[in-house]
Parts: sequence; structure tokens; C-alpha cells
Amino acid sequence: MVRCVSEAGLRSHTHLQAPIGIFGGTFDPIHHGHLRVALEVLEALRLTELRFLPARQPPHRDTPGVAPEQRLDLLRSAVAEQPGFVVDKRELRRSGPSYTVDTLASLRAELPDTPLCLLVGRDAFGTLHRWSRWHQLFELAHIVVLNRPGNWPALSPELNAEVTTRQLPAAAGLQQRLAGGLWFQSVTPLTISATHIRELLASGRSPRYLLPDTVYTSILKQGLYRAEHTGQRSTGADTGRGRGG
Ligand code: ATP
Repeated sequence: MVRCVSEAGLRSHTHLQAPIGIFGGTFDPIHHGHLRVALEVLEALRLTELRFLPARQPPHRDTPGVAPEQRLDLLRSAVAEQPGFVVDKRELRRSGPSYTVDTLASLRAELPDTPLCLLVGRDAFGTLHRWSRWHQLFELAHIVVLNRPGNWPALSPELNAEVTTRQLPAAAGLQQRLAGGLWFQSVTPLTISATHIRELLASGRSPRYLLPDTVYTSILKQGLYRAEHTGQRSTGADTGRGRGG
């Protein structure tokens, strides 16, 4: 029995399960940057599973040019061979913007005794204070920040305050409470982005080796991300993240 003092008021005494990872994004398309860091986190934090949750409509950016079901199929083919990797479709079933706080609330309702670790790249973490009901995120999950190459703006004062109060001294803290901690996880820095892959494809160049071959083959077969599909693309200037919400 673990005594769990949760600000979320979720439980005062509970038998905690091992934590799981929650990795949301547009995955437009899934690439080796996502996959490699996810695997490293799965192993480093000894998570029982790592769930990929593709967003139907990421807040704060234009609708992806590739349909949610097609992004889902690419994601499924990419993770199929890796034990512990799971695809969770719940955001695709909800209409409207895919707010992370709603997703975490629905996971929490299903998994009342499981610490949830929300994975976000450093780029996405820098925008967290603009996400919908962002303070509630910490009531529902721990946040695990992954380094990502890039010159990201300094954290806002609000986020720095959260870092000061919530940063855990050791990763083991993620196992001891349901939510509320912040952990910076070091991962292999990979300069891979979906934006770059889309740009390569739209200009007729090859993104091979930046993403799994099975994903690339499906993209070619279906003719995805060709120039005529890319008119709606975001510049990424708002969030730099495929979700932002
Ligand atoms: P885009 O270029 O379209 O913005 P992206 O490559 O950033 O896409 P997303 O699906 O938007 O991919 O990202 C989902 C999550 O994965 C975000 O938290 C993002 O920070 C993280 N992420 C994506 N690529 C990397 C990477 N190379 N290293 C670390 N984290 C990454």
C-alpha cells in the first residue's frame, strides 16, 4: 500500500500501478524522432506501456492535410513491432479540437490507480502555459519533458514557477504518485521533424531513413504529402508542436 498525497484529490490511499506513458501529437507523419525517444523513455522510466495518441484536430494550428485515419494507419504500421507501444484512438473519436486535458481526464477515469506520464518535447513544453486549462494537466498526470535539438525560447515565468515547485529529484518520484511531478528526461537528440519530412515529400525529395520504411512505403503508395496536398500546412509558428493544447 502506498500513501499517495495527491493535489488532485484523486485518492489519499491507493495501491499504485506502474506508470504508463502518454505521447500525443499530430504524427503527420510519425517519424524516427518520435519513435526513438519514445522507446528510450519506455525503457528509462520502466513504463509498462507507451500510448501514442494521434490528435484529430490539434489546437492552435491548421487542420493537417492528411486525414486522421491515414495518420492513424501510418502510426499503427510504425509501432506494430515494438512491445509496449500502443496506439490509442480516443482523440480521433472526439469531435472538435483535441485538448490534452480532456484526453488525460478520460484516461484518468479509466485508470484511477495508474500514474500517467505525459511526454512532451522541449518545444511543446515551452508552450504549455497556453494550452487549454493547463494547470489541470498537473492534477491528472506527471509531465516528462524530452530534450529536442533547436533554439527554443526561454520558459515563461509561469512555467519556471512550475519547474521550481514540481521538478522531481529522481525519476522514481513518477512511481510514487499519480500525477503532479515534472521530470526532464535526457534522450538522444534527433533533428527530425514532421515539417521537414513533409517539405521533402512536397518537393519530390526522399525522406528515407528519417522515418520507418513501412511508413514511407505507405506514403508513396497512397500519394500522401505531395505538393497538391500541402496547401493547408501550418508554418508551425504558433506552437511548434503538433498539438498545442
Ligand atoms: P511538426 O513538424 O509537424 O510540428 P513534429 O515533428 O514536431 O511535427 P508532432 O507530432 O507535432 O511532431 O510531435 C508530437 C510530440 O513529439 C511533441 O511533444 C514533440 O515535441 C515531440 N517530438 C517530435 N519530434 C521530436 C524529436 N525529434 N525529439 C524529441 N521530441 C520530439
